[in-house]
Amino acid sequence: GVIAIHGGAGSDITPENLSPQRKADYLQGLVTALRAGHARLQNGDSALDAIESAVRQMENDPVFNAGRGASLALNGNAELDASIMDGATRTAGAVTGVTRVKNPITLARAVMERSPYVMLTGPGADEFAIDQNLERVDNSYFLTPGRLAQLEQIRALGGGPINTATIPYHPSDHPTKDVEKHGTVGAVARDRSGSLAAATSTGGMAGKRYGRVGDSPIIGAGTFAENATCAVSTTGHGEFFIRWAVASDVAARMRYGAISLDRAASDIVLKDLQAVGAEGGLIALDSKGNAALPFNTPGMYRGVVTESGDIYIGIFDTMMNAKDL
Ligand code: ASP
Repeated sequence: GVIAIHGGAGSDITPENLSPQRKADYLQGLVTALRAGHARLQNGDSALDAIESAVRQMENDPVFNAGRGASLALNGNAELDASIMDGATRTAGAVTGVTRVKNPITLARAVMERSPYVMLTGPGADEFAIDQNLERVDNSYFLTPGRLAQLEQIRALGGGPINTATIPYHPSDHPTKDVEKHGTVGAVARDRSGSLAAATSTGGMAGKRYGRVGDSPIIGAGTFAENATCAVSTTGHGEFFIRWAVASDVAARMRYGAISLDRAASDIVLKDLQAVGAEGGLIALDSKGNAALPFNTPGMYRGVVTESGDIYIGIFDTMMNAKDL
């Protein structure tokens, strides 16, 4: 089996911004999540099991913007979004604005497998977690000192996200004092039987308005999987990723254009999204297990375990073998 993961892309992910300690935390977090997912594949479990395990691991790791350590909404709450899709059956599950379930990705999977729906939102989704006996926590569980400080910084600069959801827009329009608000986690896998699956989980944009939903829980925008083409999980400026239907567009370009995964994914991220100033990236696997991990920001936390079991991780342009960590 093959698995790839991301821990978010952002314009703030630069060598200067990343202290040696934080860099080590991210790399370690990626390796631990990759191992968790890959162990499932080795065990003969499904691609779905593998991506759920990897994403749960990153949700539990406070360094990533998902689960514990998620970015906070302007009102100070963690409001979490997650989605998952099975490429074999094209079934999918998603939750938005949940505040009490420890692992939103597991709730999204429960929506897929144990409800007749694809998407549940807010209090209804949190209540479904009770019905399903999923582990619940107080919202304060998700809060970390770093995210509270980030929110204070955003509030001090005068409120929530600037409105960049209009075109024309270019990154240089960002006020220079703008603080980074992005991050997300995701995983894609191909199991022994050749099935693909994708999952994405996030706290969303830091300082977001209460109720704002990004691309991460939206099937076709943040997450997509179908065995015939590819599995995709995205990260970046969600408003653009929704309007460009990024995740399903990778599959559509492969299907209708008969082009490779690498070509489809990099054309979207490096040409189309780049051209409108939409920052971000994605991870994807095709039906043969080839990986593509394009991003148009200075960095994207990412990693892959190859068929031969080698673990590669990276933040900036190059990836390295985890053996050399
Ligand atoms: N895509 C996420 C959102 O818009 C954030 C991110 O990936 O940086 O909620």
